Amino acid sequence: MTRILLISDLHLAGERPEPADRFFRFLEQQASQAQALYVLGDLFEYWLGDDALAAAEGDPLARRVAHAFAALSRSGVKLYVMHGNRDFLMGDAFARAAHATLIDDPSVVAIGGVPTLLMHGDTLCTDDTDYQAWRRICRTPQWQREFLAKPLAERRRVGEDLRETSRSMAREKPPEIMDVTSGAVRSAFLSHGVARMIHGHTHRPARHAMEVDGRQCERWVLPDWYGTGGYIEVVDAQPKLVMF
Ligand code: MN
Repeated sequence: MTRILLISDLHLAGERPEPADRFFRFLEQQASQAQALYVLGDLFEYWLGDDALAAAEGDPLARRVAHAFAALSRSGVKLYVMHGNRDFLMGDAFARAAHATLIDDPSVVAIGGVPTLLMHGDTLCTDDTDYQAWRRICRTPQWQREFLAKPLAERRRVGEDLRETSRSMAREKPPEIMDVTSGAVRSAFLSHGVARMIHGHTHRPARHAMEVDGRQCERWVLPDWYGTGGYIEVVDAQPKLVMF
C-alpha cells in the first residue's frame, strides 16, 4: 500500500502559533505514516530569503520547520516542496536544511501510479489580471536579485507593504475573480495530457469532475490552514480530502 499526503496554504507565520502547532502535530501523527509528503505552496505566509534561516534577526519558525522536515526525512518520508505565491523565494539553502526537494510549478508526478499534475494554483486564476501582472514582475531574476540584496529588515517592511496591498485589493475584488477559470483548467489538463490535477491557493477545498476532450478529468483542491486545515491523502491510486 502506498500512502502519499499533500498539503498547501498553511501560511505559517511566527505571529500565529496555532496553525504551526497543528502542522507539527500533523507531521508527527499523519505525515510520519506516509511514504511522501508534497507541500504545494504557501507553506509560509512569506519568505524573505534563505538567509533568514541563519541570521540572528531571522525567522525562528522557519528554522523549526526546517528541523522538523529534516527529522521526518531521516525517518524515511520523502519531502517535496513547491513554491506558492507567498514563499516563492524559498531556495536551495532551505531545501538542504529541510532535507526536501524543491519541485517546479507545474510538475507531473505519478502519485499512486496515476500521472498527476501538481500546481500551486495561482497560475489558474487568469481573471485576476492585477495579480498576474505582479506575478510576472516578481518572478523575474532581476526583481528577485534586487529584493534579496536588501537588508533583512527592509525586506520585511517591503513584504508587509506587499501583503497589505494584496489584502486591500482582495477585499475589492468579487470572489469569482480569485478562483480558477475553467479555460485555464482545461488548457492545463490538455497541455500536460493528464486526467488528474491537485492544487491549492484558492482555499476552496473540493473535488471537481469535468470532461476535457471526451476524457473524464478530476481536479482536487487543497484546504488552507487558516480554518481547521486538512490534507489530501492518496492511498494506492485513490485521493481523499481529509479535514481536521
Ligand atoms: Mn497562494
